[in-house]
Amino acid sequence: MYMKKAIELFQKIAEGGANMFLLVEKLNDDAEQARRLSICEANAGGCYKEETDQCSECLCFMKVKTGMLKHRNVKAQLRVEVTHCPLAKWGGVDELEIVNHYRRIDGKEILTLN
Ligand code: SF4
Repeated sequence: MYMKKAIELFQKIAEGGANMFLLVEKLNDDAEQARRLSICEANAGGCYKEETDQCSECLCFMKVKTGMLKHRNVKAQLRVEVTHCPLAKWGGVDELEIVNHYRRIDGKEILTLN
């Protein structure tokens, strides 16, 4: 019980720190944030770790990242990006273009929707 509470507290502190460090611009749209988070929590790409609320693709805390319009990418030397799902699970074709914009910059294979 004590350990579970300690882990929850650590999680809250880590998420709060991530929010302050990575946030560039807030989304300010509660409905859109909830929509994004529900897609992550449904484990749309087999990519969401419920225990830690983290995305295995981008390593972000999803309760934090889903509320961002722009953020710093920890996997790309803190490059400022339009916040997106790296597997384009949040937004279809428009988001796919954003994803592939960054994939081209990083020299990665272009992503297609199944
Ligand atoms: S942002 Fe995309 S890849 Fe990451 S957990 Fe959410 S749905 Fe999965």
